Amino acid sequence: MRTSIARNQNNSRETHRKILLNKKAEILVALGINAKRLAETRTEAEEDALSTANEESVRLRINRVLFGQLSQVECSLDRLKSGDYGTCVSCGEAIAAKRLQAVPWALYCLACQDQLFHWETESSIRVSLLKAS
Ligand SMILES: [Zn+2]
Repeated sequence: MRTSIARNQNNSRETHRKILLNKKAEILVALGINAKRLAETRTEAEEDALSTANEESVRLRINRVLFGQLSQVECSLDRLKSGDYGTCVSCGEAIAAKRLQAVPWALYCLACQDQLFHWETESSIRVSLLKAS
């Protein structure tokens, strides 16, 4: 019984590792394509300057999201290696299996993620209020 549980854990660890490595490759490919598109846009002289600037800012924003995801994936791979995978980096509680299935690179449990999100939203509101006054 014990060995079968251990084997199951190893299996799911291996599965998560594969998912994370696939995701990493996917992000790297997307980043590569984005970087290439950025370079191509710059050499197309006849393209409208304003729309180029807009497109670049959109692509840079996408790249920023991708880089953020990439660091999460890499952090998850590290945690998989150290055996901390699946526990919340904030409160140390186990992250729900369902959540890990949906977001294998999740670093926070749902409660902490919610708190973090609210905090981020709140502070960005505060910043824009400061700017407005
Ligand atoms: Zn947590």
